[in-house]
Amino acid sequence: MQAVVKSAPVDGASGTEIRDCPVPKPGPDEVLIRVAAAAICGTDKHIYHWDPSIRDQMRLPRIYGHEFCGFVEKFGERAHRENVSVGDYVSAEMHVVCGECPQCRSGQGHICAHTKILGLHDDGAFAEFVKVPASNVIKLGPYVPLRVGAFLDALGNAVHASQVCDLAGATVAITGFGPIGAMAAAIAEHSGASTVVVTDVSDHALETARRWAAGRSFSNLHAFN
Ligand SMILES: [Zn+2]
Ligand SMILES: [Zn+2]
Repeated sequence: MQAVVKSAPVDGASGTEIRDCPVPKPGPDEVLIRVAAAAICGTDKHIYHWDPSIRDQMRLPRIYGHEFCGFVEKFGERAHRENVSVGDYVSAEMHVVCGECPQCRSGQGHICAHTKILGLHDDGAFAEFVKVPASNVIKLGPYVPLRVGAFLDALGNAVHASQVCDLAGATVAITGFGPIGAMAAAIAEHSGASTVVVTDVSDHALETARRWAAGRSFSNLHAFN
């Protein structure tokens, strides 16, 4: 299969190659997914540029990419998920947690200290196929377009961050109107926030925020840098 591989510890195009790689073999508890679409995360840009923030976390060569959707190709011999079958349209949580530590055992797996990220610590989704633990597979409805299905990781961040407390009637501050900030603003508005304050260093982002609010007839947006 063809895959986008971080091949050398350097910044830019000379550190990334499209290579022929073997199709991953799903382990007993894993599922092989045929990738249909992928999105580029800020982390992927850090990998491309070999920024200090990710250097210590990667062993090269590594297939990168962790935001994607696709279709179930094959189950490992023990892998099973209720209501998920070969051919189903899915995405996957690419943080693989240990399941054993106090955080994991108390439902706080998102802060597991042993988290392994596929596309960083292990091979990811900028490829024709990717394997993931069966428990990480998320089934998608057929009404979700591929370009949205590939992007749910970022939406999940926005939903999680904005649902920590009840936003109904609240004044909400959003620092940065990038994709996640924009989605968080939409969720805040949908949740009944009375006022949304957006700050950003980019005038373009602030203009986008104002256009969004105007399009929704949401008059209580304050956007400034
Ligand atoms: Zn990401
Ligand atoms: Zn854990």
